[in-house]
Amino acid sequence: MFHVKHRVIIIGSGPAGYTAAIYLGRAGFNPLVITGALAPGGQLVNTTEVENFPGFPEGILGPELMDRMREQAERFGAEFLPADVESVEALPQHDGHPQYRLTTSDDETLETSAVIVATGSNVRKLGVPGEEELSGHGVSYCATCDGFFFKDKPIVVVGGGDSAFEEALFLTRFGSSVTLIHRRDSFRASQIMVERAKADPKLTLVTNTVVTAITSDEPSPTVADATSSVNSDAQSGKAPAIKTAGVSLNIGSGIGLTKPGTETADKPAIKLPGLGGNALGGGLLSGLSKQPQKHVTGVTLRNTVTGEESTLDCNAVFVAIGHTPATDFVADVVERDADGYITVKGGSTVTSAPGIFAAGDCVDRTYRQAISAAGMGCRAALDAQSYLE
Ligand SMILES: Cc1cc2nc3c(=O)[nH]c(=O)nc-3n(C[C@H](O)[C@H](O)[C@H](O)COP(=O)(O)OP(=O)(O)OC[C@H]3O[C@@H](n4cnc5c(N)ncnc54)[C@H](O)[C@@H]3O)c2cc1C
Repeated sequence: MFHVKHRVIIIGSGPAGYTAAIYLGRAGFNPLVITGALAPGGQLVNTTEVENFPGFPEGILGPELMDRMREQAERFGAEFLPADVESVEALPQHDGHPQYRLTTSDDETLETSAVIVATGSNVRKLGVPGEEELSGHGVSYCATCDGFFFKDKPIVVVGGGDSAFEEALFLTRFGSSVTLIHRRDSFRASQIMVERAKADPKLTLVTNTVVTAITSDEPSPTVADATSSVNSDAQSGKAPAIKTAGVSLNIGSGIGLTKPGTETADKPAIKLPGLGGNALGGGLLSGLSKQPQKHVTGVTLRNTVTGEESTLDCNAVFVAIGHTPATDFVADVVERDADGYITVKGGSTVTSAPGIFAAGDCVDRTYRQAISAAGMGCRAALDAQSYLE
């Protein structure tokens, strides 16, 4: 049990939380980091190579990067508590300063003068067979992070909002083709994004369709177990071909016939189970995996209107169906936006509650990178420091 009163408590142990701890530790504040019960180290402990964090020209494994950050914070006197914070409550002011009481998942209560919330966000998952085990081996939730690994490979993006379109358009720089799969017949994304996507020769939009499984070159998950919450639709003209016995049909409003075998590398064939078809875009993943024997080879799809099942060859699946900021526990004390992101004043980390600061992916819906979270953690530490002094 911790009975020591820390003047500042950091909630969350991703790049934002650890960076704040390094700065506050060096400034002599002896911060307490409440790391989270299940995932100390944050989102990067779930990935393999991180190639875009400055200072590691050869790249570094995500878990190793987070271990190093923790060691650095520990070196300057940070303490760690492996628990979740379940609530933050404002107490009567002490010496004219607000005080806060934090209650953890172990029913521990901690009182403090300043809090840095750095609890990140959780990616929304498809929940389909193959997704978990292929995460980091072709399944990704971040195009900026992983697009580079799929040069000249067929890529699938799942989602229908602006983020999905942004990711899909970005990925056309790398992939031999990008197929965006969306469960409804219309997109939430802005019209301009949709128009841009339609004009891109590498990008195919597939509507009224859900991914029901992600397959690999290891024993494939069964479609019977599929519980996808995502669907897709097809646009006329640029739609991928469904292979049937003898002819290929284009999905979408203007159904057209193409001769079998005329699919191009940038428009791989969607194949109906059991009917064969050419498997385009095979080949090993170039970099995501330390275990190259296991990689994504395709997705199984179901049309939400007809119920028809098909498969699509690809080497990467980027899931872009949204993030959920981990901020519910703090909803009573700080203002959040409609999606649950904590709102801060201007370019600072100052929240609506005096003495509570917020940093990283629980605030930032735009950049969502380890380095931007770390930068914001630094700013939160400096904001907290000047508040406490
Ligand atoms: C698979 C994957 C790969 C990625 N690859 C890259 C990459 O290569 N390069 C890159 O720059 N970015 C990458 N990112 C993005 C990057 O990981 C995030 O932008 C970054 O981790 C955000 O840092 P953060 O500190 O804000 O939050 P997070 O890393 O999300 O950490 C939040 C922490 O808060 C804890 N927490 C949550 N709720 C509570 C609570 N109630 N009480 C206590 N603790 C709590 C969590 O357990 C976690 O430890 C990747 C993300 C994913 C998912």
